[in-house]
Parts: sequence; C-alpha cells; structure tokens
Amino acid sequence: MLNLDFHPTGRHFLQIPGPSPVPDRILRAMSLPTIDHRGPEFGALGLKVLAGIGKIFKTRQPVVIYPCSGTGAWEAALANTLSPGDHVLMFETGHFASLWRRLAERLGLSTEFLTWQGGDEQLPDAAGWRHGVDADQIEARLRADTGRRIKAVCVVHNETSTGVTSDIASVRKAIDAAGHPALLMVDSISGLASADLRHDEWGIDVTVSGSQKGLMLPPGMAFNAVSARALEAARSAKLPRSFFAWDEIIAMNRDGYWPYTPNTNLMYGLHEALEMLAAEGLDNVFARHLRWAEGVRAAVRAWGLPVQCADPRLYSPVLTGVIVPEGVDADALRRLIHERFDLSLGTGLGKVKGRMFRMGHLGDSNDLTLVAMVAGVEMGLKIAGVPLAGSGVHAVMSHFATHAAPARLQAAA
Ligand code: PLP
Repeated sequence: MLNLDFHPTGRHFLQIPGPSPVPDRILRAMSLPTIDHRGPEFGALGLKVLAGIGKIFKTRQPVVIYPCSGTGAWEAALANTLSPGDHVLMFETGHFASLWRRLAERLGLSTEFLTWQGGDEQLPDAAGWRHGVDADQIEARLRADTGRRIKAVCVVHNETSTGVTSDIASVRKAIDAAGHPALLMVDSISGLASADLRHDEWGIDVTVSGSQKGLMLPPGMAFNAVSARALEAARSAKLPRSFFAWDEIIAMNRDGYWPYTPNTNLMYGLHEALEMLAAEGLDNVFARHLRWAEGVRAAVRAWGLPVQCADPRLYSPVLTGVIVPEGVDADALRRLIHERFDLSLGTGLGKVKGRMFRMGHLGDSNDLTLVAMVAGVEMGLKIAGVPLAGSGVHAVMSHFATHAAPARLQAAA
C-alpha cells in the first residue's frame, strides 16, 4: 500500500512533459500572502502581468488569462469564435489533437480529422503519431472547400503525447495560399516559452496555452491569445459561453482586474516567471531547450531505441518520446523506475499506451538533472532486461561536455 507519510530524501525527479518542475524562486513568489483581488495592489500586478505575457506569445493583441487548466482554454477558443454546427478542420497529430477534437464535438461543432498519409514499421496503427501537421493536405482540403464551410483550422503546435513540434508558419501559408477565410487556432499548451511561437507573425487567430509547462508554474492557469479577426468573429459567434467569454474579461483587464476571482497566488508566480524569462531572453530559452533535447536524443540513440518523432525537422525541444521494443510494457517500466529511483516519466497516451514513454526536458532543469534522468531510465531499462545497444548516460554526458551552452544572446528588454 502507498505510504503517504514516507518522504524520499532529495528532490523528486518530475520528468513528465508537464507539469514541469517549478523553480524555487517561483514557489517563493507564490507563497506571498493572498491579497484582495479587487484591491489596488492586485490591479497593479494584473496590469504588469498582462503587459508581460504578450511578449511570451509575441503578440500585441489581448491575452486572456483564465483560472483553469489548458482544457478550459481549448473550450474558450472554440466557444468564443464559433456557432453550433460550424465545421472545423483538425489534424491528428496525437492524443491531444484527438482530445481537442472530442471537446469540439461535445460543444456541438462538426469536426473533420486529417491524418498523416504514410506507413510506419514501429507503429503501423499510429503512423501519424510520429509526424507533424501536413500543411499541403490542409491547403488541398481548403481549396476543395469552395462553399467556405470550414470555419476554423485547429492544430497542435507541440504534441505532448508524441514529442513532435509542427511547423505552424506552414499552416498559415497553406490557409493563405488557398485564399480561405478560416480562423487558425493553435494549441501551444506545451510549446509556449520552450519552443519558438509567434502569435502575430504566424497569423494565428487564437493561441491556447497553459501555465504548467514552459512557464514553469504549477497547473491552474490557462491562456487565449486573440487576434483582431478572432475578436471580430466573437461578435457573431453563437456557441454559449459565460465563464470563458472574452469581452467581459478584456474589458475588466483594462484596469488589471477580472470579472471573477483570479488565482491570485499563481499570478505572483506568473509575474516571477515573466521576470525570469525576460532576464534570460526568449531566444536563449529556446536554444537551451534545443540543446537539452539533442542531449537526451543522443542517449536514446545510444540505447538503440527509436525516438517517437520520425521527422528530424520536427523533434520537440520540450520532450522526447521513446518507443520500447515489442513485448516490453512501457508503463511497467515507468512504474519500476518511479519505485526504484523516485523519477516520474510521462506515460504513453491513447493509441500508444504501453508502447512508449516520454522524457520531459523542460521547467526547472539543467544539464545534470537531465543526465540523472537518463541514468534513472538506463538503470530501469537494465533492471527490466531490455537489451541496450550502448550507454545513453555516456552519450548524454559526452553531448553536454562537447556542446557548450551557446553564449547568451542579449536578453529581451
Ligand atoms: N494540449 C496539450 C498539447 C497538452 O499537453 C495538454 C496537457 O498536457 C492539454 C492540451 C490539456 O491541458 P490540461 O491538462 O491543462 O487541461
């Protein structure tokens, strides 16, 4: 039986791809006394955070902050812009794309899933879960939609269930090339603040995100960055919405407040996270994650195991999915590693349950915590009797030792 009074020594290794390890600095900021969310201090905090969060999304447009998990922000994006029965084009990149589709159906939208066309030896029944969004297919489908039935294209930027980061700029180009008026909605719940994302430049209409990944906060806060076109669509959209309605929130945000009780202490945490990201500079943050991901993939290659992402152009900087050999239960392996080494890895979700595990390289990490993660996985693989081609620990150490962290670029103002 689980003994909740037992606390292992040292830090727990939270290496799932979100919630990510929260820096002490942020935990300390969140431990400040809870204040009156209608008082003057909170208004000042709200204004500061609202000004700072736009820089992370690379937008000058409003960013709506909700006290909810990412799923709420998915719902908000659709409910604010669409009407019952509207047709939405989505792309099956993995479990989270599938969940967003299910949510859209439940809201009364009509959905259509495009899937990557091609086979796969490792995962023949989930080939698309090793690839990203195919913009050519989106363009062809939009061109064929002469009646303009499709009201929105919804794609996942960083598919957390697989470790594939799709090229969002190519989706924008596809929509423009087809001359189609559909809105572009992007889930960057696990991409934001770890992988490059440009809400304005890429012409995204709604970017959806959450607090518990690249922003290094605990779960409980979610976001919609909203374009002028999306705001316009909201004027005539008929899906019911109340808690998620943008207009009331944006109106009250002008003075730094919300129509209901925001999660005040997470707001302190967000303020601290924004300071940390600004001091490091977003380009440095992205370079750091890319380097970490390369090191972890070097380990997976040394073990001789396949990385779930089959397209090297789309390797995720946030997490690495690892496919286990036939006959190995990836969840049993994860359990063993957790029990023996107090290290949590991400489970295989949906179609790939039991056939892969996920290693997160985001949040409050550094080279040595990632080497330790690889060591924990390697010990687990050995105990489980999985044949390994070589040492992932040596590979990741040698990668970090021979690839110095890039010199810091100028931090963003
Ligand atoms: N979309 C992606 C890409 C995610 O990674 C997650 C959560 O991991 C979600 C959506 C759902 O967010 P939440 O679990 O915060 O509701």
